[in-house]
Amino acid sequence: MIKVGILGYGNLGRGVEAAVTLSDDMELVAIYTRRDPSTLTVKSNAAVKSTADLDTGKEDIDVLIICAGSATDLPEMTPKYAALYNVIDSFDTHARIPEQFANVEKASKAAGKIGLISCGWDPGMFSLNRLYATSILPKGEAYTFWGKGVSQGHSDAIRRIEGVVDARQYTVPVPEALERVRSGENPELSTREKHTRECYVVVEEGADKARIEKEIKEMPNYFADYDTTVNFISEEELKKNHSGLPHGGSVIYTGETGFDGNKHVIEYSLNLDSNPEFTGAVLTAYARAVSRLNKEGVTGAKTVFDIAPAYLSPIAPEELRAHFL
Ligand code: NDP
Repeated sequence: MIKVGILGYGNLGRGVEAAVTLSDDMELVAIYTRRDPSTLTVKSNAAVKSTADLDTGKEDIDVLIICAGSATDLPEMTPKYAALYNVIDSFDTHARIPEQFANVEKASKAAGKIGLISCGWDPGMFSLNRLYATSILPKGEAYTFWGKGVSQGHSDAIRRIEGVVDARQYTVPVPEALERVRSGENPELSTREKHTRECYVVVEEGADKARIEKEIKEMPNYFADYDTTVNFISEEELKKNHSGLPHGGSVIYTGETGFDGNKHVIEYSLNLDSNPEFTGAVLTAYARAVSRLNKEGVTGAKTVFDIAPAYLSPIAPEELRAHFL
């Protein structure tokens, strides 16, 4: 049995909790939180403990799945706990991945542990598919489309506007752009041509809707470069129709082979009812690999690029060869 700990109990922590519970070769030992453990109600039978227990370095776990936020938690937490346990995170600030990798490499190498970073679907499964495609077809182009799905970061940005009570933002790929890419045309697409943004916003009574709509549409980095639609709805409607966290998207790669320009299109597509539950399932499979590899003596920072696929599966290698090849 692989003994698993979860650090941080938000959307992703709950997703990992479900995935580990469904894995017969894993035991969920404890969920660790920075909050008062007695205030948390969890769905599984796992113990709920404080991060103070984790800080002793004495917890009996084979791998710790860190489910805290990418913005400020993970840059600090993953290197810290990589010095004590095998760890895995879902760090998704793409520009800072090299820095996160270097910090985790230092800590995990010194401790004789593995620290696998940036696991999930993007980064994660999408990254793998971009890498496979570009390795097989070096003459080609990768396109990534996201959605339709809820972007938490963009929803939060709207919530910070004065007069806004709650909001949900969907990222939506532009159908014509998808079709042009799938046809093998290799188009050059601007940010605006690839995705649109749909916002569902609940405002305070008497709020100035025209001002709020303008502020959303003109928000730099978040909305200014996109065609954005803003729909004002009631709190009940938001709860009823927009309370889930669906997401997904596609990595589409178009490339050429041979001397006559034969074209090939590779597409990997995800349509997820629950972003955190799917991400949690990916982290759980990679946690299995981390635990196994460390038992074989492997140490240091890793990403999904470094893990051979057979290590993800609970199925024996000979059975994989007999039935999955
Ligand atoms: P949440 O905001 O739900 O949770 C983040 C942390 O906040 C938790 O670990 C928890 O820590 C704390 N927290 C949660 N709920 C509460 C609450 N009610 N009150 C106070 N604190 C709370 O974030 P998500 O779980 O949705 O996402 C985590 C990260 O996963 C994101 O930052 C994102 O970057 C990443 N991600 C990566 C993906 C990928 O494909 N690579 C895909 C999806 C997400 P504690 O228990 O210690 O208080």
